[in-house]
Amino acid sequence: MCADKNHVKPNLIKSLLGNKCARCRRGNIFLYKNPYDLKNCLKMPDNCPVCGQQVEVEVGFYYGTGYVSYALSVAVCVASLIAWWLFIGFSIYDNRLFWWLGFNALLLLVMQPLLMRWSRTIWMAFFVRYDADWFQGPPQGTGRVNATFKNAI
Ligand SMILES: [Zn+2]
Repeated sequence: MCADKNHVKPNLIKSLLGNKCARCRRGNIFLYKNPYDLKNCLKMPDNCPVCGQQVEVEVGFYYGTGYVSYALSVAVCVASLIAWWLFIGFSIYDNRLFWWLGFNALLLLVMQPLLMRWSRTIWMAFFVRYDADWFQGPPQGTGRVNATFKNAI
């Protein structure tokens, strides 16, 4: 019936890292590819260019990304701490701990645009499920299932 590529479910982690739409895992949810284009890095289209899913699912939808961003930042800190510990080490007799603190602060600063984008992508994936029938057109309403009140609004 449809092309084979429509039936291949893209990998979740890969689509999250690539900032893809949660519904089809194919369309970009950011207008500009470069996360370090700081003026435009968080600009999003109204709808997914591939499946038509509304990108801002409801007003203020992305306020909750702060929780995801915090968790990602802590994960980056823990990863850099472990890497520093394994490759450089810590000691009470020198300043290596403070060098790590400075390095970690710089790392978080440099990674911030990436973390903000990934936070939005992950946040969207919390609320919008992968839809195997995404190619049949945009979802009704916001894409969240609420059949009871669908006609009331
Ligand atoms: Zn999509």
